[in-house]
This record gives sequence, C-alpha cells and structure tokens, in this order.
Amino acid sequence: MSQPHRPAGEPSFRESVDIMFNRAVALMDLSPGLEQKIRVCNATYTVRFGVRLRGAIHTFTGYRSVHSEHMEPVKGGIRYAMSVNQDEVEALAALMTYKCALVETPFGGSKGGLCIDPREWEEHELEQITRRFAYELAKRDLIHPAQNVPAPDMGTGEREMAWIADQYRRMNTTDINSNACVTGKPPHAGGIQGRVEATGRGVQYALQEFFRHPKDVAVAGLSGTLEGKRVVVQGLGNVGYHAAKFLSEEDGARVIGIIERDGALFSEEGLDVEAVKEWIGKHGGVANYPLAVHHEDGAAILEAECEILIPAALEGVIHKENAARIQAPLIIEAANGPVTAGADEILRARGTVIIPDMYANAGGVTVSYFEWVKNLSHIRFGRMQRRQEESRHELIVRELEKLSADQNLGWTLSPSFKDRYLRGAGELELVRSGLDDTMRGAYQSMSEVWHSRDDVHDLRTAAYIVSIGRVASSYRAKGL
Ligand code: GLU
Repeated sequence: MSQPHRPAGEPSFRESVDIMFNRAVALMDLSPGLEQKIRVCNATYTVRFGVRLRGAIHTFTGYRSVHSEHMEPVKGGIRYAMSVNQDEVEALAALMTYKCALVETPFGGSKGGLCIDPREWEEHELEQITRRFAYELAKRDLIHPAQNVPAPDMGTGEREMAWIADQYRRMNTTDINSNACVTGKPPHAGGIQGRVEATGRGVQYALQEFFRHPKDVAVAGLSGTLEGKRVVVQGLGNVGYHAAKFLSEEDGARVIGIIERDGALFSEEGLDVEAVKEWIGKHGGVANYPLAVHHEDGAAILEAECEILIPAALEGVIHKENAARIQAPLIIEAANGPVTAGADEILRARGTVIIPDMYANAGGVTVSYFEWVKNLSHIRFGRMQRRQEESRHELIVRELEKLSADQNLGWTLSPSFKDRYLRGAGELELVRSGLDDTMRGAYQSMSEVWHSRDDVHDLRTAAYIVSIGRVASSYRAKGL
C-alpha cells in the first residue's frame, strides 16, 4: 500500500497518538509530570549502514524506538517499508506501550523499522540486509531477550525473525535464552503454533466479544451476531487476510469489499477470501480477478455501505477529508493508527463505533508473549500443558460417570465425546484459547470504563484510560 494521502493541517501520526492520549489524560487524575513521562518516547536510535549488493554499496536507514521501559523487555515489531520514518516508529512504539498494558502482557513499548521495499530484493540479499540490521541493533541491546524483543510487522515475517534470532545467537553464543530475543519465529525454529494467524485471529475474537455485548452493538445501530454482516477489509496482508478468512469461514460474515494497493474488489454476494489471496499471489494484485467488480480507486471502497469496516493496512487512511463519507457504523482498527485524530473526532460526532487499534490488533503481541514465555521456560509448551489438560479432563469424565452411577441417572458418555475430550489441547488450541481469553478480558475492562463513566463516550478513550492507568501504577510502584 503506498503512503496514504495526508490532508493539509492533519497532524502527523505521532501527534495524532498524542492528541488521543491527551484526550484521555484530561479525564484522569495524573500529576502533570507523570503524564508527560508516560507520553514521551524515551529514545529513538537511528542507524545508517552499508551493505555490498549487486556490485555496489547500498546504504539503508533503520530505527528502533523505545517508548516506555516501565516494564522490560520492551516489545514491538520491525517494519520494512519505504515509508518508515522516525515519527512513525515513535507513534508505533507508543501504541505498543498502551497495547501491552491493555492486554496485560508484561512489556514496555518499542518499535523498529527499516526504509526498504522488500519486493525489490532477492531473498539472499534480504538476509544479508536483515542480519546487518540485527547486528547493529543487538550490539546496542536493542535486540535482547531481557531488554528488547522485536517481532514481525508490515513487510516482515517468520523468515526475517529466524535470521534475526540466528544473528543474535551468533553474537551471544553463551546466552541460553537467545531464542527469546525475538518472537514470531517459525515453529520449527523456536516459534509457537498460531503466531502467524494471531493478529487476524485477535481481530475475530475482538468482534465476537463485541457482539456478545448487545448494548454496545446497539450503540453502533446494529443488532444480532456476526452472521450475515457485510465487511469491507483494506489490505489482504497477514492481518487482513486472516481476519477476513476467519470472519467469513467461521462466523458467517460476508466480505463484500477487499481493498489492495492496485484497487479494490467488490461483490455484494461476498468474496472468497482464499481465492482472492491466491489471485494476488499469482498476479501481484487484485486487477482482473474474474468474480468481482474491480475499482481502480481502492480508497473509494472504504466509503462503501457495509456494517463493518476493517482497515488492516497503513496508518492515516481515514482522515479529515474522507471521514464524513465513511458509511460503516462499526470500524475495527486491525492496522495501527488507521484513523487520524481529526477523523476520529468526525466519526465520534456521527456515532460511529471504533474498536481501537491498541485493543483490536493486540492478538499479535499476546501470542508473542506466549512464545517468549515458551522460549524462556525451555519446555515444550503444548506437551506440558497437554498432560495437565489431559489429567484435568480425565478427572471431569470420571466425576461425570461417578455422578451418573451414584444418582442412578443412567448417563452414558459416548466414546467419541470421551475421545475428543480426553485428547486434550495441543499447542495451537492452547494458544487460541489463551488469546480468546485475553481478548475477552481486555474488552470487558474497556467496556466497563465506557459504560460506567459519564465523561467517557467512546472505546478508544476507555482503552487509553485503562492502559495509562496501568502504566501509571507501574511507575508509582517502582519509581522512574
Ligand atoms: N507488530 C505487531 C504489533 O504491532 C506485533 C508486536 C509483537 O508481537 O511484539 O502489535
């Protein structure tokens, strides 16, 4: 996705995050000193390094920003895109702080980025560039299991994380916890099942939880469940793809619009997410996809009539100029910062419900937390858990059979039930259920603030209040 249009007078991404932060802080009782300490970014490291490629030296610029170290390690992805800049990584690092606090993963906030178009380089070249970037960061403890733990973000994935982990290991051969220096690694290289799908899965769980709150659903002017709801998704990358896939395949939602960098696909009957993904993989874009109408002006489909809009690409795509034309009554921010502060104000005034980024896309860091814990414990996460689950399940089955016998109830448990139940949960099931639990809990803490306070009128402000409150307590308890 190319850098979105930023209307004149629109604040930068970091300023936009600060405006939203300030709106929440105005409703809190924090000392001005503490409020400022939480808001500001602690440090941003900029590195420029050269790599010899294709017979010439190429210089790359990268960043790693640490927003808050109230808990360590600090956590956040590494983004590969030409649009990466200091303002952006600082905004993203701040969002990581609030996100981690909201879902109660014990991390501070950080983010990194490299100005690069990954599509321009061959795999072996990307490996060389990534290893060099990792070297520069690790040398300064900006990659470190106890201090700073990166993860995938836009333009990076399992492959890059495996290179980073290996680079760190080579530089720290005696560190027994080296695997925990980065998350989002492939499962066969120290990763965890379910990390790739985690952010999209989290978006699904967030929507499921929202629809379990009829009062909240009614605020958006909607009713019922996800079944049959029309969805428009922007960006069929890792997050948008998984969210759209799970919502359509498992919850009965109808994905009517998919916006990509070369335009949008639209079909009232609903799009086959898997088929569109495959088409993009083969043809490099959505153009000429035979089973839907193609619109050259993709951004116009953001304004299409639908129930749920899922911006899952870049920040700032819903801004002051197009906000008033957005028809969806419910927006879930799968991307970080897709709605600018100015657009947020316009949409709030119109009664649009926005499920905010720091909650909506927290599935990634939640499962990263499981991976990090797994790496540090040096235990095969699923296997251990599975034994515990199995014995608990066996106990339940035995109790049920005893109850039936004692009370002459005549219950019989079918062999297939026993089989399914006793098999217990593998790593993937554990990861998913842990994620579901986290998403439910975090929604409830946000929603409670939204409904219990007369001065809080939206979920974003509620989310900031919960997370800033937690960061503040941590500073108060531990000192600066
Ligand atoms: N890049 C993801 C995010 O923005 C994941 C971060 C992580 O897992 O540390 O939340």
